[in-house]
Amino acid sequence: MAEIRDTVILGSGCAGLTAALYTARAGLKPLVLEGHEPGGQLSITTLVENFPGWPDGIQGPELIANMKKQAARFGAEYQHALLESVEVGAHPIKLRTSTSGPGCEIHTRTLIVASGASARWLGLPSEQALIGRGVSSCATCDGFFFRDKDIAVVGGGDSAMEEAIFLSRFASKVTLLHRRDAFRASKIMLERAIAHPKIELRTNTVVDEVLGVDEKEVKGLRLRDVKNGEQEELKVSGMFLGIGHEPNTKMFVGQIDLDDEGYIKTTNNVFTTRDGAIVPGVYACGDVQDRRYRQAITAAGSGCMAALEVEKDLEERRH
Ligand code: NAP
Repeated sequence: MAEIRDTVILGSGCAGLTAALYTARAGLKPLVLEGHEPGGQLSITTLVENFPGWPDGIQGPELIANMKKQAARFGAEYQHALLESVEVGAHPIKLRTSTSGPGCEIHTRTLIVASGASARWLGLPSEQALIGRGVSSCATCDGFFFRDKDIAVVGGGDSAMEEAIFLSRFASKVTLLHRRDAFRASKIMLERAIAHPKIELRTNTVVDEVLGVDEKEVKGLRLRDVKNGEQEELKVSGMFLGIGHEPNTKMFVGQIDLDDEGYIKTTNNVFTTRDGAIVPGVYACGDVQDRRYRQAITAAGSGCMAALEVEKDLEERRH
């Protein structure tokens, strides 16, 4: 019979590691399953300047490494493992991971889901090679580095409009590239972008290649007009993706309530539900349940809330 843990945390981004710190300090020896993107979105960011307490900013990977170390100091354990299946209705909750050996099946009294949301990318090899070197999926994180530079934003939804408008504070010019001529963005956001003197919208345009792989920094984009197939080069120093995020919740379909885009629905901040009723012992925090704020500090805050609820939950079960 497998050991029954007090708590397992799914995901090692800002939310998961904050939950790990709090549950570890409560003596619960949390096990953190690091998943397919260890460290979450901060681990692919460069300088983080809006996390309080770092007056000169801190590199995203360093911030994550510090959080990991801080939680480990109080007894948090980490395992590189991919979740293959989960039974949240079972008592204890059962997790099956891709790790071979005894770690394969994990039993736990409580589960904190902090599996995040992954930014969608175009999937071009040149784009992947230049992430963090001019290619970014986070305008709030990286916009500052593009002062007085020409940049491009890809997408036709509210995120792309919001990013373009935000980035226009820094950039000399923002070219918004959309693959169709109809936009998903709300009318008001689209109108703001259209009216903005620094933003140019180009429709029916896709990116075939990000230029600058040899130079290790974005030098431009090779664009293609989808109507006539004509290609041209656009000189920019940065490309921001605003083509949406995908919450990492596939394992929970049918087990806990998700919204129409797959984000976990929570009640009282971090409680998960099934058909509207609270699922005992299963909490969610961070971007997997937040498509509105998506900031490191808000993820950390909700990780703390989930940990405090776990502590309270286990305490109540003991009495
Ligand atoms: P979205 O509405 O799904 O829009 C994604 C956009 O990216 C679409 O225009 C889509 O093009 C494009 N796209 C997707 N994959 C692509 C690819 N491989 N290549 C090129 N283009 C691609 O996502 P979102 O903008 O992140 O918004 C998500 C939700 O959050 C929405 O409900 C939105 O209203 C909300 N949101 C609200 C605000 C706000 O109110 N301030 C801000 C941000 C987000 P197609 O149209 O051709 O599919």
